[in-house]
Amino acid sequence: MEYRCLGNVGLRVSALGFGAMRLPLAGDRPEDIDRDEARRMLRRAIDLGVTYVDTAYSYHGGQCESWLGWALGDSYRERVTLATKLPTWKVERRDDFDRLLDEQLTRLGTGIDLYLLHSLDETSWRDNVVAHDVLRSAERALADGRIGHLGFSFHDSFDVFMTILTATDLWEFCQIQYNYMDEDYQAGRRGLYAAAERGLGVVVMEPLRGGQLARPTPEVAAIWAAAQRDLEGCVPAGVLIPESPVEWALRWVWSHPEVSLLLSGMSTMEQVEQNARYAERSSVPLSAAELAVIDRVRDAYRAALPVPCTSCKYCLPCPNKVAIPDVFRLYNDAVAYGDVDGARRQYTWLPEGERGDACRQCGECEDRCPQHIAIVDCLQKAHAFLAAGDD
Ligand code: SF4
Ligand code: SF4
Repeated sequence: MEYRCLGNVGLRVSALGFGAMRLPLAGDRPEDIDRDEARRMLRRAIDLGVTYVDTAYSYHGGQCESWLGWALGDSYRERVTLATKLPTWKVERRDDFDRLLDEQLTRLGTGIDLYLLHSLDETSWRDNVVAHDVLRSAERALADGRIGHLGFSFHDSFDVFMTILTATDLWEFCQIQYNYMDEDYQAGRRGLYAAAERGLGVVVMEPLRGGQLARPTPEVAAIWAAAQRDLEGCVPAGVLIPESPVEWALRWVWSHPEVSLLLSGMSTMEQVEQNARYAERSSVPLSAAELAVIDRVRDAYRAALPVPCTSCKYCLPCPNKVAIPDVFRLYNDAVAYGDVDGARRQYTWLPEGERGDACRQCGECEDRCPQHIAIVDCLQKAHAFLAAGDD
């Protein structure tokens, strides 16, 4: 494992962080964490050198923090930096900050090293953080030791990012979405540079865009295969060419020295082993020839995916029970990966009330989508495509 400084926080952290948002499940609901398997994965990651663990109040239907406190126990807790997030959207009165933080400390059963205001955007910044003086409450929590350091995670435009970044000197780190498809999206590269310049640690989330970049379309797979052949013939001995689409994507993020670490929401032990291995060579930046390959892959993905959904599930629950990310996953599978029959067959397995045509266009989900997807419109298109041929 390789380690980097978390900005000016005074901590060295592993280049790979364990994101606890996509833990293995023992049932159908996000709350049904497979507790024992998830604990084995977490502890294996720590044994392989991971020192940063990230959770949030809302992950896995609110069950993740209590699982994490249990899974770490005393012996593994002391080996990691623990980050969790305030559900900013739940702050509707001034005393909500303390109530929620106290609840999180109870759930975790341990201290919080890093505390983030979760998923800030223009609306939550104005209506929750500023309106209810959250920064003053956070300053008190820092002073009395309930939290170690303050940061925020972010989903909005670059301009909003700069407004929030420069609003206070309390920030010591931030968490942004960054991957080779989203270089100029949301905070993006400019936000990364601005945060690092101010001395903030930068934690990158969605380096694989919700797993999308681990599943090459046929066109993308052909580009990777050709690149592997071409590069093997021309790089000097000892130079490491990424061995898989996952490593290409992670190495692209790690090639930015401004990045402190990236989070991977790992769901299997195999992913833990693989990502930890990739992190051992995270300080090797991609060459100019390799970056040119990424440019070609980016173009191919953009041409193929009809909906840029990352399966983050922030749009759920839908009051009408529409399974939004499932519908988009099937639509993307059908269009980008060419599995039209398979996707249409799986679509029939979704209960009727959860398909795209069950949407009543209330618009609630669109406000919550960090990718700003026109969900209502895309659901209609997805349903028309996936249900085509149904009687
Ligand atoms: S717009 Fe449609 S999918 Fe979105 S929350 Fe409303 S009913 Fe559900
Ligand atoms: S539609 Fe938006 S909020 Fe819902 S899963 Fe996809 S990216 Fe996430």
